[in-house]
Amino acid sequence: MSGSHKQAEHHPVGEVPEPNRPLPAPLRSRLAAWPRSFKLPRLPLARAGLNLPRPDAARLLRAGLSLIYPPSCIACGAAVDRPQALCPECWSTIRFIERPFCERLGTPFALDIGGTLHSPAAIAEPPVFQRARAVAAYDGAARALVHKLKYNDRTELAEALGRMMVRAGSELLAEADLIVPVPLHRWRLWRRRFNQAAALAQVVSHHSGIACDMQMLRRVKITRSQVGLTRSQRRDNLSGAFRMAEGARLRLAQKRVLVIDDVITTGSTANAVARALMRGGAKTVDVLSFARVVTE
Ligand SMILES: [Zn+2]
Repeated sequence: MSGSHKQAEHHPVGEVPEPNRPLPAPLRSRLAAWPRSFKLPRLPLARAGLNLPRPDAARLLRAGLSLIYPPSCIACGAAVDRPQALCPECWSTIRFIERPFCERLGTPFALDIGGTLHSPAAIAEPPVFQRARAVAAYDGAARALVHKLKYNDRTELAEALGRMMVRAGSELLAEADLIVPVPLHRWRLWRRRFNQAAALAQVVSHHSGIACDMQMLRRVKITRSQVGLTRSQRRDNLSGAFRMAEGARLRLAQKRVLVIDDVITTGSTANAVARALMRGGAKTVDVLSFARVVTE
């Protein structure tokens, strides 16, 4: 049994079938590299007086491929009408987080009582980061998507999720100077080959135009799962887990940083990262994730 399967067992997400006939990787990369400007020769119809626009080769090829590989729901694989979309059923299971929510923690409130609101949790124990925002609650299809991204090394999925994060985090992005993903320990990265937070950070950076610094932070301690730990155990577990990279302080000085992660569970990781960045000289730290655990 492979390592990734063993880990997946700790997070049962129900049936997550693979999408219908995904494009083979070599074909996918060749498609991505296809020059957009490349045009097919003018159709001979022009000679007959019909002045048709020259077809775009890449678009024709994509259209042709979509007949063989119809687009499928990014969560469950059901047929959908366009690529990188969710089917109506999966869509209905996603609880998008919208106002009213706690302005610090980003956790949704059941009732709208107006004004700027802070949750009791944020008042009792203010986070180190300034604000956290997430696209959706960590359940239903949102949970399945996080797991797919984490264990199946799906860069296309990162594109779809990252785009949603740009929308959910627009207020934070408007004030950010720098994007920093939550790093994986290098042993974990070596085993998994893929840091899902870094993949999301790249997409968010690409669509927002805000620079992304992959080398800012190091994860120097292998931490065990935070699930089931008490608050003080969580803090001990993550104490000293993140460290500034050599020479990174200069790049961080007085910067407003936006930390990117795939999911916020207890907020302890986000706090540990924010603490390392604030000590390293950041001006402010906000956190943007695709999903977050919401306890009623
Ligand atoms: Zn679906």
